[in-house]
Amino acid sequence: MSDKFALALHGGAGPKAGEDYSVVEAHLAELATEGERLLRSGESALDVVEIMVANLESSGLYVAGKGSAPNNEGQVELDASIMEGHTRRAGSVSAIKDVVSPIGVAKAVLENSPCVMLTAEGANKFAAEQGFESVLDPKSYYILPIGVTEDDIKNYEMFHGTVGAVALDIHGNLAAATSTGGVFGKPAGRVGDTPIIGIGTWADQDIAISCTGTGEYFIRAGGALTTANGYELAGDSLEEALWRLLDEVERLGGDGGLIAVNKKGEIAMAYNSDGMKRAAVSDSMDIISTTFAPCR
Ligand code: ASP
Repeated sequence: MSDKFALALHGGAGPKAGEDYSVVEAHLAELATEGERLLRSGESALDVVEIMVANLESSGLYVAGKGSAPNNEGQVELDASIMEGHTRRAGSVSAIKDVVSPIGVAKAVLENSPCVMLTAEGANKFAAEQGFESVLDPKSYYILPIGVTEDDIKNYEMFHGTVGAVALDIHGNLAAATSTGGVFGKPAGRVGDTPIIGIGTWADQDIAISCTGTGEYFIRAGGALTTANGYELAGDSLEEALWRLLDEVERLGGDGGLIAVNKKGEIAMAYNSDGMKRAAVSDSMDIISTTFAPCR
């Protein structure tokens, strides 16, 4: 056990330039404070990233959980995934409907199921069997997050507000979690990068990563594993490894961002969109929370 810990959170890489996200930044800072307390007290990275993401989901401030928008058939379909580095245990749900905490269900897949990924009706059936709370009145439950209009949610690919968390705990273990309502105007059954282990979320013994952006480009660019491989196999610095993925996303015509922590407790957060709602804290760094501050 050591004193070393690190935590980074994101609330999506799709903020609108000029919009006031101070409420979101305050929320991220508050969560980072709680995350710091939990990590200092010895909580596992896996539990902390789940707690962080569950709070982001239930806040209604992001396009995940309560802040999710309906697909083009009027239904909210949610994706989430979680991974623990040193055990490589992973759990994921895609196109799950009307559960309060998709990330909780993903963690239950990791802990209580022989599968890594459950989708659609099967994921809902599993959530019910595991006793997860469902949304009883979707019409009144889901709300538009700050900065999102009714017009936005009709445009495919418009805006991203996925949430994610990555952490190093004082036991030296890493974990990552990501949850989303997906991109706006998506067709029923569309699944992005978020629930795909190795694309939207990855954690191993050296690095933990959570991505946000237009998922199709992240999938085609090789996703989080491109960053992990750059860092672990190609000798990239943590920062360079993030840009290895983002530059490829950009070359393909996409945008977004990602956050990562490594075993040394270093944190990197990068985006090629207008901004990324994000916060971070570690044993050697006070809490930062920002949206538009340049990332390089
Ligand atoms: N990556 C998410 C998706 O494509 C969207 C986002 O990050 O906002 O579903």
